[in-house]
Amino acid sequence: MENIQMLLKQGAVGKPCAPIVAVGDKVKRGQLIATPTGLGANVHSSVAGEVIEITDDRIIIKPNAKQPKTFVKIKKGSNLEMIKEAGIIGQGGAGFPTFIKIYNGKEDKPVLDHGYILVNASECEPGLAHNIAQIDADPEMLLRGMHYVMDIAGADKGIIAIKKKHRETIEKLDALLKDDPAIERHLLPDIYPMGEERAVVRECLGIELEPDKLPSAANSVVINSETVYSCAKAIEEQKPLIDKNITVRGMIKGGSEAHVFMDVPVGRSVEALIEEAGGFDERGYGEIIMGGSFTGKACELGDPITKATGAILVTRQFRDLKGAKVGILVCACGGNLERMEDLVKKYNGTVGHVCYCKQAAEMPNGSRKCERPGNCPGQVKNNLEFKKAGCEYIIIGNCSDCSNTVMASGPKMGLKVMHMTDLAMMAVGHPLYRTLKVSKKVDQDLNVVDNVEDNETVE
Ligand code: SF4
Repeated sequence: MENIQMLLKQGAVGKPCAPIVAVGDKVKRGQLIATPTGLGANVHSSVAGEVIEITDDRIIIKPNAKQPKTFVKIKKGSNLEMIKEAGIIGQGGAGFPTFIKIYNGKEDKPVLDHGYILVNASECEPGLAHNIAQIDADPEMLLRGMHYVMDIAGADKGIIAIKKKHRETIEKLDALLKDDPAIERHLLPDIYPMGEERAVVRECLGIELEPDKLPSAANSVVINSETVYSCAKAIEEQKPLIDKNITVRGMIKGGSEAHVFMDVPVGRSVEALIEEAGGFDERGYGEIIMGGSFTGKACELGDPITKATGAILVTRQFRDLKGAKVGILVCACGGNLERMEDLVKKYNGTVGHVCYCKQAAEMPNGSRKCERPGNCPGQVKNNLEFKKAGCEYIIIGNCSDCSNTVMASGPKMGLKVMHMTDLAMMAVGHPLYRTLKVSKKVDQDLNVVDNVEDNETVE
C-alpha cells in the first residue's frame, strides 16, 4: 500500500487538528493521532505503520506490509461521547462534526423538541453508488444507527429520504420498517439536487426554509446515511472513523460502471484507487474530480481521500475552445466562480462575462444557497448579458430544472451551452444535464461527438 496521508482538516469546515504523534512513532490502526484545536473532530490512523513526516496540513504514515483487520477501539462512554471520540464528521458533504450537529451542549435539553432525524440517502450527485450499496448490504444497521441518533438529538421520528428509483433497497427497508413505527421512508424524485439539506427538509416535511436557515428551524437534523452507519459502528464496535466507502467511476479501463469500494482506509491516494478500479482508460481523460460532478473539486493523483470524500470521477477529455469567449453562469447548485473559471481554463477558453442567478443568495461564509430551489426565476436576462458581452459559449452549473430554463433561450440566441458536469456525465454514461428535458441514453461508446457545437441531444 502507498503512504497514507491523514489530513489534519478532514472536512471543508472547522480548524486543522493538532498532531499528537511525532516522526518515527509507530502507530496502530485506529490510534488517535490528532485532536481538534477548535471546531473539528479527532483523527485516527487508518493503518498500522510508522509516521514518516508531519507537515502543516497532514501526517504521513508508511503502512506496514501486513495490515491488521482489527483496530484500536475507542473507549466506552455514553453514545454521544463515543460518536465524539470516534471523530465522526458528516460523510456526505462539508464534513461538519456529527456530535455538535446532534447535541446542543445541554444534557437536560436535546437539540430537537420531539423533532425529526432526516436521513439523506438520496445519493444525489449523479453516478455515485456507495451509499445505496451500504444500505443494501445492511439495512438493519441503518435503523439501529438512526435510533441512537434520534435518542441523542431528541427526535420522536426518523425519516429515510431515498430516491424512488432504488426499488430493491426500498423493499428491504420497507420489510424492516413494518415493525418500526418510529421510522418511515420518503421517496424522492430522481433529480438534482435532492440531497441539499433544505431540499431534504422540504421533501420530507413540506417546510420551505430560507437560505440562511438550518434544518433545526424545522425541528429537524439532516444526516447522511453513511454517517449514521459510522455512529452505529462507534457505539456497537467502538470503531473510530478510519474507513470510507467510495465510488470510483468514469474513464476507467473496462467501462463506465461504478466501482464501489467499501471500507477504504482514509488517507489512501486518488491514484491508488483509480489503479484498483482498473486504471485509466487508454483514450485519456480530462480531469479528476474528488466528490460529485456538481459540488466536487478537481484534484491531483497524489491527493488523499478524507472522511468526507464520496467519489473519484475521471472525466472525458476537454475539447479545445481555442480561446473563445465563455460566459459563466454561477448557480447555487453547482461550482463556485473559482471552479467555473478553472473549467474555462481547462477548455482553453477566455472568461467573457460572469453572471449570478439572482436567486443564488450569498451566505456570510461566501457560499451561495438557492432562495427557491426548483423554481427558476428565468435566465433570459443573463443570456442577453452573455450575448452582449460577445460570448460564444456559456458554461452553467445549474440543477436539472434550471438547466432547462437556460436551454430555453440560450441556444436561440446563438449561445453554445456547456454544463459543468458534461464531461463527467459522458464518462459515466449519464444523460447530460443540459439535455435532460429530451433525455436520451448517452452512448457509452465515446465515439459520440461532443454536441456543444449545435446544442443537439447526445444520442
Ligand atoms: S433558481 Fe435555479 S439557477 Fe438559480 S440559484 Fe436556484 S437552482 Fe440555481
